[in-house]
Amino acid sequence: MVVLTADPINPSAEVVERAASVLSVGGTVAAPTETVYGLFAHAHSAVGCLKVFKAKRRPLDNPLIVHVDSLEMAHDVGHVPPELENVLRRIWPGPITVVMKSRGVLPNCITAGLDTVAVRAPAHPIPLAIIRKLKAPMAGPSANRAGRPSPTTAQHVIEDLAGEVDLIIDGGPTFFGVESTIIDVTKHPPVLLRPGPFTVEELEKIFGSVSVPPAARGLAEVEVALAPGMKYRHYAPETPLVVSHVDLGKAAAALEARGVKTAVLCIGDCPPVGHPLPLGEDLYQVAKNLYGVLRELDRLGVDVGLAPAVEERGIGLAIMNRLRKASVGREVRSLEELYVVLGVF
Ligand code: AMP
Ligand code: MG
Repeated sequence: MVVLTADPINPSAEVVERAASVLSVGGTVAAPTETVYGLFAHAHSAVGCLKVFKAKRRPLDNPLIVHVDSLEMAHDVGHVPPELENVLRRIWPGPITVVMKSRGVLPNCITAGLDTVAVRAPAHPIPLAIIRKLKAPMAGPSANRAGRPSPTTAQHVIEDLAGEVDLIIDGGPTFFGVESTIIDVTKHPPVLLRPGPFTVEELEKIFGSVSVPPAARGLAEVEVALAPGMKYRHYAPETPLVVSHVDLGKAAAALEARGVKTAVLCIGDCPPVGHPLPLGEDLYQVAKNLYGVLRELDRLGVDVGLAPAVEERGIGLAIMNRLRKASVGREVRSLEELYVVLGVF
């Protein structure tokens, strides 16, 4: 495994060429995008794709995202609905993945044998330069071990995948910190599969109405998962996490008084009780810091982490989705509910 440092704005030709040559012989490369770090293979390499699944211990029925440098390259892998051509020209590159009918030209490993393909153009100079050099798309999920929080620094990738990736490119911390928005345009109206930095409010301006099922809010596991990845437990720290609509200071004081060691994930000022884990001052900072803080939570050795519920609009929808998944449904609206979910009385 090689770790190379790259300037995220102007990656050197040497790093880009090295990455492209690793990918073109069926190797894997972890690299930053504007959302989180991705673990990439050449999109036409079944061998590279299998290495991605093996490194992550990812179930084979959970397909990858195909990363392109342009709308033209998207046409090679999927059927872009003609009425969306102009829309995609406007929103790409960016943190928005579009599920469309597949052309069936990629290895089954990448699409998990589905007749659809998830495509996006990342707004980050490093992956864009690699795709351009490769003259082919790269397929990849987030570069974490399956079930762990997504990596937002190269260090997180090393923690999870050391020795299991051919090349890691350290381009510094990622910009948004949560994964791309995923929208399925094979449905009418389009269905939001995963909220992300490209907000529903922006999507509605572009697509008119957009369907937001409860599962996209991180609520009620649906019987048939909308996106294959939805049925897996994601982003969950080892330490039980509770999403609290109750004031965090009050909740932490109540738990500590009952002998429960508590970490408090706080926005703005942290309460004077429990172990403080600052998330930032505003919701964009929270998104950026969230996964690193969840990793830190597990290192503290506390009994429980308390996270604040946030308003589900803008980037807040993506944050609540991730918090709900990380807390596997532990969301409380009163101290009584808090005691019940944690079994403390
Ligand atoms: P990750 O970004 O690491 O979560 O991995 C890619 C995500 O894209 C997973 O949640 C997949 O379930 C989702 N995805 C990939 N292909 C498709 C598809 N054809 N339809 C729906 N979701 C998809
Ligand atoms: Mg992932």
